[in-house]
Amino acid sequence: MQKSISEHLVLMKSQAEAGVDYRPRTGALCPSCGKPAKITHTRPWDGETRIRYHRCLTPDCVLASIRQSIKSVQVDR
Ligand SMILES: [Zn+2]
Repeated sequence: MQKSISEHLVLMKSQAEAGVDYRPRTGALCPSCGKPAKITHTRPWDGETRIRYHRCLTPDCVLASIRQSIKSVQVDR
């Protein structure tokens, strides 16, 4: 059974807020469309982790359409 758009949106929004993995090779991928998200803000290293904020710019992506910021966490330098 397919999920409704609003269920999908709530799930994607919570993933974007909880944080996705950041990998040096690929960057952070949008949890909704899976495309690389553009970095909007990079925080300095805090111990072993680094937080970044991104925005998805893919047309038709729900996270792009609501201008949701996507948090990412990098653990490997
Ligand atoms: Zn997206």
